[in-house]
Amino acid sequence: MNVDIQKIREDFPILSRTVYGKPLVYFDNGATTQKPRLVVDALVDEYYSVNANVHRGVHYLSQQATELHEASRETVRQFINARSTNEVVFTRGTTESINLLVSSFGDEFMEEGDEVIVSVMEHHSNIVPWQLLAARKGIAIKVIPMNDRGELLLDEYEKLFSERTKIVSVVHVSNVLGTVNPVKEMIATAHAHGVPCLIDAAQSIPHMKVDVQELDADFLVFSAHKIYGPTGVGVLYGKEEWLDRLPPYQGGGEMIQHVSFEKTTFNELPFKFEAGTPDYIGTTGLAKALDYVNGHGIEQIAAHEHELTTYALQRLKEIPHMRIFGEAAERGAVISFLVGDIHHFDLGTLLDRLGIAVRTGHHCAQPLMQRLGIEGTVRASFAMYNTKSEIDTLVAGIERVSKMF
Ligand code: PLP
Repeated sequence: MNVDIQKIREDFPILSRTVYGKPLVYFDNGATTQKPRLVVDALVDEYYSVNANVHRGVHYLSQQATELHEASRETVRQFINARSTNEVVFTRGTTESINLLVSSFGDEFMEEGDEVIVSVMEHHSNIVPWQLLAARKGIAIKVIPMNDRGELLLDEYEKLFSERTKIVSVVHVSNVLGTVNPVKEMIATAHAHGVPCLIDAAQSIPHMKVDVQELDADFLVFSAHKIYGPTGVGVLYGKEEWLDRLPPYQGGGEMIQHVSFEKTTFNELPFKFEAGTPDYIGTTGLAKALDYVNGHGIEQIAAHEHELTTYALQRLKEIPHMRIFGEAAERGAVISFLVGDIHHFDLGTLLDRLGIAVRTGHHCAQPLMQRLGIEGTVRASFAMYNTKSEIDTLVAGIERVSKMF
């Protein structure tokens, strides 16, 4: 990156803490990223100096809070290049965004025997909501397979389409393999079959330019906390022509135009999907986080993380008995691995004692674990503030643990 990485690290107070007396090496960014001071300050400032419920009050504070909240929506719109803020629905996160879409889309457009296509590398949050819909409505779930490098088989994908296919729902970047799926091409294939496509961008949005118009995505979802923003906030992007046709998800305040016991009419987009008080403080935090990313440039961040990932792959492969899962030609800043027959949990726990935070387990992708024939992996995932020297610490840590076994 052109900017000084040490300066970036200073923006993230947590990075200077120690764990078990060791400097923290935080490599669990795929689970959640750390927060720059300006994001946390924005949350505190708004609580202290603006706080009031949005969209409801004539009073000064309520209007100011509403302006901030809607300005955040505009920041998100620009960040993903949506056509209009009507297409940006605030949710609690990726998981809620997918549940919203599955529920509303499933109610309106799917009948018994209809089909959704997902991939073998989905996070549980893009599997289980469809299974719940399957239990409710009798829809079928078709699964795109992958090769041993962790790349989806696009020929097989084509073959899954039938006249009962109603939607495709795929992950942009795998949270386990790091594979960057060719979603633009996959969306075009879905469109050629006359069906829309949902993109789970939870692991792509922090690491690469995501332009919904360029991708021609019909729906796209992500969480604020994975892109340096606060927990509890997420986004469902949807093309206006689709969102217009979908019924509301939850009922309550704010999503209505008029309520009587005889008949209720619903609010316009995007408020139709935002029942109840939104996390208007959290949306300010998300906007600040996106401004922060813009300030450094997503392309520069991507280049830095690419360099880190390449270096980490090279160094990890020097370790005897190292097995890396995911060798796709296009890959993101996530590396899953196992060493010899050391249990992933043991390796993760011992690395933790050295101050190194990695993820262990099935990473909410058990069907993918079944495909790989394993129970879990250790996962290191990088962010803009990580350094090569931290990777050296990880490699030294793994070597040390390996010697103990
Ligand atoms: N999809 C992917 C690919 C993920 O990696 C995650 C989280 O790890 C999710 C969905 C769920 O995100 P959240 O827990 O923020 O709703």
